[in-house]
Amino acid sequence: MDAVRTARRLGSKRAILAYRRSRAEMPARAEEVHHAEEEGIEFMFLVSPLEILGDRNGWGRGVRLQRMELGAPDASGRRRPLPIPGSEFELPADIAVVAIGTRANPLLTATCPELKLNKWGNIETDDNQMTSIPGVFAGGDIVRGGATVILAMGDGKNAAASIDKYLREKTKSAKQPT
Ligand SMILES: Cc1cc2nc3c(=O)[nH]c(=O)nc-3n(C[C@H](O)[C@H](O)[C@H](O)COP(=O)(O)OP(=O)(O)OC[C@H]3O[C@@H](n4cnc5c(N)ncnc54)[C@H](O)[C@@H]3O)c2cc1C
Repeated sequence: MDAVRTARRLGSKRAILAYRRSRAEMPARAEEVHHAEEEGIEFMFLVSPLEILGDRNGWGRGVRLQRMELGAPDASGRRRPLPIPGSEFELPADIAVVAIGTRANPLLTATCPELKLNKWGNIETDDNQMTSIPGVFAGGDIVRGGATVILAMGDGKNAAASIDKYLREKTKSAKQPT
């Protein structure tokens, strides 16, 4: 929703959101859909991308899509989209944005094998937001998965207090006479 609305605000004549289920299954918030429509976003429901089409110079020229129909509900409880054979068509486009979800950035975590991660690749912390590496703290999306700015800010404040406590205790024990 953010990508298509931002594309429109950046001056795209047409900004189209292609979604493989129908409006009823959209995970976006209702007011987001409403505001997107007010901004002039076009919704194309029950279509799934098959291929990004390029021209001879390597520039994108469109997307090949296939029409879908809804079958029985899947594990998410939403009706499963099923491809309709022979329904492929091309949608001309200057830019195609793939915006179908988020996951943890593996750059940092891949280079720190001592950092304990959960099964989704997010960093595990204790209640004080300390990671498996003593003195290293984490919070926000890399710990929670995709969440909100408010929760990330809360984690930041919580981590700051924990870091302060951790350093005070460390300094105190370093000063203690042996
Ligand atoms: C499309 C979209 C729309 C959203 N809309 C909302 C909304 O309306 N309201 C809301 O509350 N939340 C929204 N969110 C969620 C919100 O953006 C996040 O929860 C929040 O930004 C998490 O903050 P963070 O500081 O944990 O992570 P981030 O904001 O992702 O910050 C992490 C930073 O670390 C940097 N980084 C990563 N790896 C390294 C590295 N190895 N070295 C140095 N820097 C690195 C990244 O570049 C990034 O700047 C949205 C998220 C998305 C993707």
